[in-house]
Amino acid sequence: MGKTVICPGSFDPVTYGHIDIITRAAKMFDHVIVGVFVNMEKKPNFDIDERIGFLRRTVGHLPNVEIVGFDGLLADYAKERGATAVVKGLRAVSDFEYEFQMALTNRKLNPDLDTVFLTSDAQYTYLSSSIVKNVASFGGDIRNFVPECIHDEIFERLNTKGKH
Ligand code: ADP
Repeated sequence: MGKTVICPGSFDPVTYGHIDIITRAAKMFDHVIVGVFVNMEKKPNFDIDERIGFLRRTVGHLPNVEIVGFDGLLADYAKERGATAVVKGLRAVSDFEYEFQMALTNRKLNPDLDTVFLTSDAQYTYLSSSIVKNVASFGGDIRNFVPECIHDEIFERLNTKGKH
């Protein structure tokens, strides 16, 4: 039986950092489920269909990657889908504390569930969806942060400069 893992996130929107982690996971495991949080604490800038659409256009060509929206507990969803590990990206030490807490919580809820941490390419370690949102909201260039095929849609939505 092949190894199935899950890469959870809000992907609001997907960045080169996420793409790097998903691509690495796809090389290591047989089946990678990219699980997009349907309900988020903070209202997302892009709705669930848009976030899934951006992922399809950027990592949808990888044959062992499946992109789905999911709701509820990650530990339950992983069990339901037969995933044995959660794959997360670690940027800096600042990510560690929260991720460590989540990993242990998920294992408590589902003892069979491990968490694997990957590091992205050094050129993306500073990158997050919030950076993309901040820069674009002031009309800044986000071409180094998101792929060309989704750039215009993201930039036009987020760029509020001159829209008032
Ligand atoms: P963000 O923190 O960018 O809003 P998400 O909540 O969608 O992203 O995160 C999904 C996963 O992707 C998390 O494990 C996060 O650590 C990882 N990730 C996001 N950007 C990067 C990056 N630049 N390098 C490594 N991992 C990343």
